[in-house]
Amino acid sequence: MNSFTLKNTTLHAENVALNHIAHAFGTPCYVYSKAALTQAFERFSAGFAQTNHLVCFAVKSNPSLAILNLFAKLGAGFDIVSGGELARVLAAGGDPKKIVFSGVGKTEPEMQAALNAGIFCFNVESASELNRLNRVAAALGKVAPVSLRVNPNVDAKTHPYISTGLKNNKFGVAYEDALNIYLQAAAMPNIAIHGVDCHIGSQITELAPFLDAFDRVLWLVDALEQHDIPIQHIDLGGGIGICYSDETPPEFKAYALAMLEKLGTREVTLVFEPGRALVGNAGVLLTKVEYIKHTEAKNFAIVDAAMNDLMRPALYDAYHDIKAVQARDNQASALSYEIVGPVCESGDFLGHDRTLALEEGDLLAIMSAGAYGMSMASNYNSRPRAAEVMVDGEQCYVIRKREKIADLFALEQILPNL
Ligand SMILES: *Cc1c(COP(=O)(O)O)cnc(C)c1O
Repeated sequence: MNSFTLKNTTLHAENVALNHIAHAFGTPCYVYSKAALTQAFERFSAGFAQTNHLVCFAVKSNPSLAILNLFAKLGAGFDIVSGGELARVLAAGGDPKKIVFSGVGKTEPEMQAALNAGIFCFNVESASELNRLNRVAAALGKVAPVSLRVNPNVDAKTHPYISTGLKNNKFGVAYEDALNIYLQAAAMPNIAIHGVDCHIGSQITELAPFLDAFDRVLWLVDALEQHDIPIQHIDLGGGIGICYSDETPPEFKAYALAMLEKLGTREVTLVFEPGRALVGNAGVLLTKVEYIKHTEAKNFAIVDAAMNDLMRPALYDAYHDIKAVQARDNQASALSYEIVGPVCESGDFLGHDRTLALEEGDLLAIMSAGAYGMSMASNYNSRPRAAEVMVDGEQCYVIRKREKIADLFALEQILPNL
């Protein structure tokens, strides 16, 4: 289902016209569809209905409390990478017993908070981290449930910045070292081995890398069993891609079937950490054309959203489809535009070479902006972060107010005697 569709030449989120949202709440503004979020979660989970499984939404892809709360009500767990994300999940009503804690740099206070909350599992990324966790848990009189994040050394065939499963990157423990570190973990009094974890990257559009990684994880699970270390769950991470333009990522159903086939008759719980695949196509960034500027070489549409609102184009040269909210009658006037923001960087673009019929004041929707959009937004150029709106049928709700300029320097102080 696509929740963002044209109805009578106007782009809608479910049954609400996007120009209505722009007039009511201003631009730039992130708009999410509750139906799209719900359906993505339910479809992903449905593939695994026949087996014990836990779908842990990767909070970093979109940490909005309203979205976390929606997923919590649908039964989701959460994959967190910081103490801040732990606090968010708890504030949103998430179940601590369904939280997995990933990340290469967990601090002692973060470990303490997660132990006190009683999370499902720590995904441990180094031998040093394991030692620290054992010590922190001992001091609290607790036993920490762990998986080791193993680096299966498979090529996810995605952008190098979002590929995490090759041996030259910082994530996880080397596949060859994993068994040894598990044996060390087994001897630690305040560590309980629960699972094996891997996550090989993001925006992966083929099944093969997932299957290769799963093969290597299963080999390890079998080796552990031979060492009397039984494994209760296998965490296969996230990373399923979405369609931004013409990609053909695996369907959830095909992904699930392939994974279940590989699992065979083993009795373990499968854990997944999808982020982008659940929220990416459930959100758009709504923006207004402030100026049109024709130069000798290019036509520019300068919009009121920028790289601080949506960093992906500047950071990864990522492509987002850009649609006019209200299609203009005169399509013959369409030109190729550079869609750029007001930030003082030439890297501040949202799209190159987009053919659109535009006038100043027109509204545009930057599509597929639900993942790594607002979550990566910053205040660069002292720009307050955008408002966020959730649409549910005919209704729309502000789920995060637009930041006020005064918020931007509320924590600062002038030194009168400096
Ligand atoms: C970022 C991340 C995810 C989510 O990745 P997506 O590509 O958004 O599905 C899952 N697990 C870990 C450990 C991550 O770092």
